[in-house]
Amino acid sequence: MTQPIIEPSFRESVDLMVDRAITAMDLDQSVAAAIKSCNAVLQVSFPVKIRGKIEVFTGWRAVHSTHRLPSKGGIRYAPYADQDEVEALAALMTYKCAIVDVPFGGSKGALLIDPALYDRDELELITRRFAHELIRKGFLSPSTNVPAPDVGTGQREMAWIADTYKHLHPDDINYVACVTGKPIHHGGILGRVEATGRGIQYGIREFFRHPEDVKSANMSGSLDGKTCIIQGLGNVGYHAAKFLSEEDGVIITAVIERDGALVCDEGINIEDLYQHITEHHTIKNFPSAHFAEDGMAVLEKPCDILIPAALESQITLENAANINAKLIVEAANGPITYGADEILNKKGVIIIPDAYANAGGVTVSYFEWIRNISHIRFGRMQRRHDEVRGHQMAAMMEEATGNKLSESIRNNITRGADELDLVRSGLDDTMRVAYQQIRNTLENEKNVHDLRTASYVTSITKIARSYLDIGIY
Ligand code: NAD
Repeated sequence: MTQPIIEPSFRESVDLMVDRAITAMDLDQSVAAAIKSCNAVLQVSFPVKIRGKIEVFTGWRAVHSTHRLPSKGGIRYAPYADQDEVEALAALMTYKCAIVDVPFGGSKGALLIDPALYDRDELELITRRFAHELIRKGFLSPSTNVPAPDVGTGQREMAWIADTYKHLHPDDINYVACVTGKPIHHGGILGRVEATGRGIQYGIREFFRHPEDVKSANMSGSLDGKTCIIQGLGNVGYHAAKFLSEEDGVIITAVIERDGALVCDEGINIEDLYQHITEHHTIKNFPSAHFAEDGMAVLEKPCDILIPAALESQITLENAANINAKLIVEAANGPITYGADEILNKKGVIIIPDAYANAGGVTVSYFEWIRNISHIRFGRMQRRHDEVRGHQMAAMMEEATGNKLSESIRNNITRGADELDLVRSGLDDTMRVAYQQIRNTLENEKNVHDLRTASYVTSITKIARSYLDIGIY
């Protein structure tokens, strides 16, 4: 009889990866212990009357670190949520924020629920009750703990949470900053919905700006024409696949969803597929691709880039050896287990790790939070001023050269940046600088041999410095 393969839990996997980095950097064990430990976890159970009957819901909010405030991290609604997962995700948020220099601590929340079983009004009631519990117990406020969307939640839930906080704290002038990922007309910021997918694109672009890194993944040249498989066409997967295929010439050869996979070597049109899913709630019967029942088998299909963008623990001891991708970009949190990570490293598969790859969401959440506490939209003060300067510049150039500028060049010079331009520019800069810091660590630390360990060493170095600067008390 074959023995079942036992793997560490998600939280243990994160801890083991962090331990590998701590060993490589030779950090004082007491500082390491302080960084690794989870500061607080709240579990709440609360009753809600649904269709005439009382149902009791259970949720968690873990605060992994408070060396920077507020602590930040999404809230997910999932029927498989548990405390172990929430703690792992909160820890990842600490490391993620440090990697991209977002001055927040790490937190995460979850509600044990299958949102598909409830209608809109019921979900509003449940969300408001959950928010009420978190607020009353000091686990949600603009200055201490700020949630965002994650699996199963979106702008709608964030708006309900912000409104609940406003009713409980009408005297808090910054109430709208108690949550990020809100709708635009409720204090959200342009570019937040697609930020994580956009960050994936910017991270991959930066990787391809370094020919040695591309070579280490057994590839050459640019992103154009590279083949890519995406697992999960939700918020993150859809935007990453859309931007990479429409703007960088990447060919999406397969999309894996919960009900199977679609395969087409010539490339799947992501926008068409997204419309199909929105209409039919399944990937089945999509006309221009072959449907495969066994989605997990498609994960092993050869490709240049594999982007798991669904759930944790998708590449495990069971399938890691069969993975045929040259580069894996972890859009989801924790899609590769610790054991699988070791196998893939030995195989020479390059992994751009979650704590860096999917940091676009928290980066733009940081911009949204700043916008909320400063009570002004980015670009409002300088946009027209920049346009006037642009017109003056264009006139000077025409006078100096005696030639008229073409309309498109003139438009480029004279156009002032709006909020979306600034958000994209800030996100692009963040992803580029963070990648360069990580690869510097990989180049200069003799015990560091992969991008994941390099990411953790980069991040832990910054967190340790912050702990040592302020002292631990
Ligand atoms: P989502 O709920 O919008 O999308 C998840 C997608 O995965 C859905 O389309 C779902 O049908 C699909 N899926 C579920 N189970 C699957 C399975 N077994 N096989 C294949 N597909 C499956 O969630 P999201 O916000 O896109 O988050 C996806 C991942 O990205 C999560 O790990 C999340 O923690 C991480 N993440 C999200 C954000 C964000 O801003 N939303 C930020 C950072 C990280």
